[in-house]
Amino acid sequence: MSNIYSVIKDSGEMLSFDDVLLVPSYSEIKSRLSVSTKARLLASELSIPIVSSPMDTVTEHLMAIDIGRLGGAGIVHRFMDKKEQLLNMMRIERANRDNKFISAPIIPAIGVGSDELSRLEYLLNGLASVDAIAIDIANGHSSLMKSMIQSVSSITDEKIPIIAGNVATGDGLAFLADCGVSSVRVGIGGGSICKTRIMTGYGLPTLTSIALCDKARMDGGYSDVTIIADGGIRYPSDMVKSIAAGADLIMCGRVLAGTGSSPGDVVSVNDKRFKLYRGMASSEAQLARGTGLKPGTCSEGVSTHIEYSGELEDVLSEFVGGIRSGMTYAGVSNLSDLKNNAIFSRVSASSLDESHAFGTKNKGV
Ligand code: IMP
Repeated sequence: MSNIYSVIKDSGEMLSFDDVLLVPSYSEIKSRLSVSTKARLLASELSIPIVSSPMDTVTEHLMAIDIGRLGGAGIVHRFMDKKEQLLNMMRIERANRDNKFISAPIIPAIGVGSDELSRLEYLLNGLASVDAIAIDIANGHSSLMKSMIQSVSSITDEKIPIIAGNVATGDGLAFLADCGVSSVRVGIGGGSICKTRIMTGYGLPTLTSIALCDKARMDGGYSDVTIIADGGIRYPSDMVKSIAAGADLIMCGRVLAGTGSSPGDVVSVNDKRFKLYRGMASSEAQLARGTGLKPGTCSEGVSTHIEYSGELEDVLSEFVGGIRSGMTYAGVSNLSDLKNNAIFSRVSASSLDESHAFGTKNKGV
């Protein structure tokens, strides 16, 4: 159990990634390549703790196959009609069948309500097996979510694990755990394309949400429930801090949206290459799915182009490399020990400047 909860409590503030650093400790790890980054997602074990977000500019079949081959998992988004989603899932099945080096988890996302239930039934009818079902809504701590979990559990005879979210608090995690889910997406308002906090005033720093949820998981005896930290990952260090604070897995949107495995074309402007990345609650995404913004509602996301970041494998290698290296500073060889041995320290605002590579700035004297 890391000390992040008490650091937050003592500070009297809801801290975010940049407010803390991990204190290095004695290490007997001889090589960062010797540590294990294995992580638990439901029944399956992943070799890297990274999950791609169910967004229309992040995860369709190609991302799910590629990230699965590289040891993570992808959740195929629900912002397409059910036939297209089934085709996506079947392509993942086929890749798993045809290539013994690929075992990409089969995880479709669905929303809530009767149409989404019929989407699920359609998918289940067309697929040989499903590893998990992700019920994907903005506020998972809700009666809508509870009744959807009940309906999904009854359709599947509770045989298919459920990933649900998002929540930001320990009460939210306990609520979903009591509803019977296996995995909870934790984080509200922290996404790089998110306007929720600005439009509504609600949300918590993702690091704080992870700490609160990890505490609630321990206090409530929900040790079987995995925490997926979701939203706001910029650097490998954000992943290391998330895991050290209690997350089992890290969900990424932006980090993966710029790669060749995400949906969408590369656009060239002035010798630079870009890909579209948008929040699923942005007006652009809502227009693209044909609904547009309903009167009386507002958009809680933005749409942007981000620089093309190259092959997924290289991007993941950099992020997982950061996790591995972080583990050597902690002197641990697996991710559970990274959390169990972590000592967080609150840092001053000026230390943030020192943390970034400032050698490239020519400040003069
Ligand atoms: P990122 O990795 O920081 O880019 O955050 C991705 C996460 O933001 C997703 O996994 C969702 O939880 C969340 N998200 C996706 N679309 C929206 C939106 O339109 N508004 C708010 N949050 C969003």
